[in-house]
Amino acid sequence: MTKQHAVVIAGGGPTGLMLAGELALAGVDVAIVERRANQDVEGSRAGGLHARTIEVLDQRGIAERFLSQGQRHTVVHFHIPLDISDFPTRHNYVLGLFQKHIERILAGWVDELAVPIYREREVTSFAQDDRGVDVDMSDGQRLRAEYLVGCDGGRSLIRKIAGIDFPGWDATTSWLIAEVDMTTEPAWGFRHDSVGAHGIGKTEDGRVRLVLTERQLESSSAPTIDEIREALIGVYGTDFGVHNATWISRFTDMTRQAAAYRDRRVLLAGDAAHVHPPVGGHGLNIGVQDAVNLGWKLAQVIKQISPERLLDTYHTERHPIGARVLRNTMASMALRRPDDRTKALGHYASQILGMNEPRKLMAAEVSGLDVHYDLGDGHPLLGRRMPDLDLITTNGPLRLFSLLHHARPALLNLGEPGAFDVTPWTARARVQLLDAKYSGAWELPVIGTVTAPAAVLIRPDGHVAWVGDSTQQGLSDALATWFGSIP
Ligand SMILES: Cc1cc2nc3c(=O)[nH]c(=O)nc-3n(C[C@H](O)[C@H](O)[C@H](O)COP(=O)(O)OP(=O)(O)OC[C@H]3O[C@@H](n4cnc5c(N)ncnc54)[C@H](O)[C@@H]3O)c2cc1C
Repeated sequence: MTKQHAVVIAGGGPTGLMLAGELALAGVDVAIVERRANQDVEGSRAGGLHARTIEVLDQRGIAERFLSQGQRHTVVHFHIPLDISDFPTRHNYVLGLFQKHIERILAGWVDELAVPIYREREVTSFAQDDRGVDVDMSDGQRLRAEYLVGCDGGRSLIRKIAGIDFPGWDATTSWLIAEVDMTTEPAWGFRHDSVGAHGIGKTEDGRVRLVLTERQLESSSAPTIDEIREALIGVYGTDFGVHNATWISRFTDMTRQAAAYRDRRVLLAGDAAHVHPPVGGHGLNIGVQDAVNLGWKLAQVIKQISPERLLDTYHTERHPIGARVLRNTMASMALRRPDDRTKALGHYASQILGMNEPRKLMAAEVSGLDVHYDLGDGHPLLGRRMPDLDLITTNGPLRLFSLLHHARPALLNLGEPGAFDVTPWTARARVQLLDAKYSGAWELPVIGTVTAPAAVLIRPDGHVAWVGDSTQQGLSDALATWFGSIP
């Protein structure tokens, strides 16, 4: 028998889990199909969360689950460490936390929201028609969904079957990465030679984690311990008695992005939509942020609050962000080349990034705090992230992010109480109206202090959809654009 869901997500990695949580919060029937038997992650992979990702988790009231388990560092990296401790956010740091923990905590949240996960099976094919998508799984079962989202990683089958192009740049360099034991004390830290940079450090449980630049570009995704031995001897003159490898993998600087994030009833998010080298630690972060941009839009289309074209804004808004991360990582990798001319360029890059304004610009880009969706001209807040203000309401103090815990839109009135009426949109799209006071500064990362608005319309993803002065001009249009027309 064919099981029905409003949305099927292929892949329960960080992106798929976040998207499932967002849809479940909006009351949408969503299910995940995941190849893995549980949330265990082989090897270390992602090492942390950037400031904007922590903010989006805070918007859902779950940031503390991650913060309590990670370590805070006040620098992000682009060529040199860049301090972010002066950024106007509660989360002016990177949270060091390995992907296995991030996935475990996200999976716990998704479980509380009662999202079914079809585990130990794969999506093997799908076919879409005007009304939905038939999704075939490796156990022979078929699911029927209104929409299918490919969160199935860089080798995405969903992207391939949908026929979505994946243009970009082929790999030029490959790296071996492994978690091993060694019988003799290794040369801890970084070593630079004519091949590139190599690093040996400790895993969480005190074992050895190494990353070695390879002399020649290799492409197999399943390297052997012999290759690790040879590479160690090539760099250090010894293999340090390497043995007991529990994880060996290879990554490259291949850099590609899906030409379209949507093909009718099929959407892509996370690594399925963009791949790039891990430098700077972006991949997991932008995947989670893709999910937060897409979730509420897909929910509104399914609930017939908004027309299907709302989904096109997912591509319009997130494709440029993905392209920017690709550019950022390509530049960062280029600056790591070991030749003398690149070192000369790197000298000037370090000098420039050491200055205050360039530091802020680059650090805000890496941490995702400057993300700006082009929603037209107007107040600098328009299209940017809403800061987590300390509000005063008739019921006492309130943090702005708490308004977003249930992924509902909000109209915040900071002027004359009772000046607004959004009743039709409350019924239609769960828009909240809050009269409140805020007496602090309005400071945005990089931009600095901006004029205090009289009112702000905030989307469920925390981005500002409309900014009011003393008039309500444009509010009805903004409400209709984002939360559906009232007949
Ligand atoms: C060495 C390394 C270091 C990294 N460091 C960082 C870092 O510091 N910071 C950072 O942000 N990112 C980092 N990344 C990138 C990060 O790991 C990825 O960007 C992130 O995992 C992407 O999440 P995702 O959910 O989009 O895809 P994935 O994590 O790849 O998840 C895809 C899921 O889909 C499942 N799947 C695949 N095909 C199917 C199918 N047909 N049917 C059902 N299930 C399927 C897979 O089992 C998997 O669970 C690093 C990556 C590597 C390799």
